[in-house]
Amino acid sequence: MVTETAHTVQVLQGTPVVSGVAYGPALLARGDVPTEAIEAFGRGSYADADAALSAYERAAAAVADGFAAKASSVSGAAAEVLAASAGLARDKGLRSIVRKQLASGSSILSSLHTAVEHFAGLFTQMGGLMAERVTDLHDIERRITAHLIGVAEPGVPVPAVPSVLLARDLAPSDTALLDPALVLALVTELGGPTSHTAIIARQLGIPCVVGTVGLADVTEGALVLVDGTTGTIQIAPDPEKAAAAAEADAVERATLATWSGPAVTADGVSVKLLANVADVPTAQSAATAPVEGVGLFRTELSFLNRADEPSIEEQAAIYADVLAAFGEGRHVVARTLDAGSDKPIAFATHQGEENPALGVRGLRLSFDNPGLLDRQLDALAAAAASSGVETWVMAPMVATVAEASSFAEKVRSRGLRPGVMIEVPSAALQASRMLEVVDFLSIGTNDLTQYTMAADRMATDLAHLTDAWQPAVLQLVAMTAAAGVTARKPVGVCGEAAADPLLACVLVGLGITSLSMAPAAVRPVGAQLGRVTMADCRRAAEAALAAVDPEAARAAVREALG
Ligand code: PEP
Ligand code: MG
Repeated sequence: MVTETAHTVQVLQGTPVVSGVAYGPALLARGDVPTEAIEAFGRGSYADADAALSAYERAAAAVADGFAAKASSVSGAAAEVLAASAGLARDKGLRSIVRKQLASGSSILSSLHTAVEHFAGLFTQMGGLMAERVTDLHDIERRITAHLIGVAEPGVPVPAVPSVLLARDLAPSDTALLDPALVLALVTELGGPTSHTAIIARQLGIPCVVGTVGLADVTEGALVLVDGTTGTIQIAPDPEKAAAAAEADAVERATLATWSGPAVTADGVSVKLLANVADVPTAQSAATAPVEGVGLFRTELSFLNRADEPSIEEQAAIYADVLAAFGEGRHVVARTLDAGSDKPIAFATHQGEENPALGVRGLRLSFDNPGLLDRQLDALAAAAASSGVETWVMAPMVATVAEASSFAEKVRSRGLRPGVMIEVPSAALQASRMLEVVDFLSIGTNDLTQYTMAADRMATDLAHLTDAWQPAVLQLVAMTAAAGVTARKPVGVCGEAAADPLLACVLVGLGITSLSMAPAAVRPVGAQLGRVTMADCRRAAEAALAAVDPEAARAAVREALG
């Protein structure tokens, strides 16, 4: 949507995913190799197909080496992302298709394109996390092309002054190296609220808007004001007012950074803030954040690269290290393997499903392989015993009360506390009955939104649907939270929705008792809750439920909270 304000400032609207205000010159990420250079190159001048293949190999190796060099200069998630891109550039499957295409007489650029499209099609079919790698593949194609024709690799230029980065889409290899001192905000045309871009922006603590219509028309260097709370991008706003808004927000963010927990509303109601963790290193780092424990330990993420199922002892050792990071009165909610769909795990995922998101994923894997779940629960029980840390265990992708009941029995028989995730609309509709058989619920708003709106959470062009502010999603959250209030049992939220400070107030107003999120989001959420009363939160919840769409819901909640 493009609107004009009274001062004829052009305003673009996108989906806000990380709050905050930033003002600065637009820096356009150069996504493409110049068409003229490609046309001038044509088929290239190679003696034969072998010579062309050697040129491809040199170009692919140069791209892979570039990624590897960057990977060695950083650590953590950024290094992993870059190492994975290096591996993809060197991929033998890609080379093999290029070789066959060249042998059949195709030009080098069209051979490369065919190979990339072949794998992009496969990844898209696999869905989820694999589908996100399509962005990587296209990024690699552009970089190899650039080397072949002898121009600079495209990508995110390093800004000379602090700038707002605008892109059609950002590849993980682009975002892994962003410097928050130079990149003030991220704005993309594609990408959804759970996309890679959104996750990186949250980690960097910079405002982010995705799914922005009309972004392609913004010119390099134009001054833009980004509001990550409303999702608006103003082009050439009043400079003084824009600078003042960004300055006030910077002061505000600096204050947030000092918040030290625990979370209580202005009228003294406690809300548990918890961390989402993936493995031992992320757990150890999350343990230093002001959190009361872990609300979602995604156990499957420790096994993404494993071909075979780890033994009970090996699993127990990993789980014990995660639990041990949260001793001293904190508790950890471990989720049993959520393999399948967006998280393919070689030893568990069913192959060849037509529609993996609706297939055998999460708890469903135990239907024909109960031993997989049993062994994991044995490992979790052993880790809980050896670490002495309070351990709750929940199942992902639960659809019926019978599934919840049989899971709860297995967990209780091992002396652990059972719960289930509410990710499927049928589970939300049955929340009261779920609470008759389990001790707690945890709402996975990423999947609950995907299944309620029938919109792939990884789809880059459905940002307006894959938005937890959709009133239909909030209705299901409200039902689930109300069931918890009646049953006097905890109901938390562990999807991305919990990381949105404004939405957090709505969730608390609906009766949610804990919010689990990426550690980087904890301080802004905690500080926001400290500024509002329970009555404010209830008013915000009513306003959000009454709104017709996410945009109206955000506006109504901002007004309700003053
Ligand atoms: C969710 O679906 O909201 C959730 C927390 O689980 P995941 O994102 O791991 O699917
Ligand atoms: Mg989920």
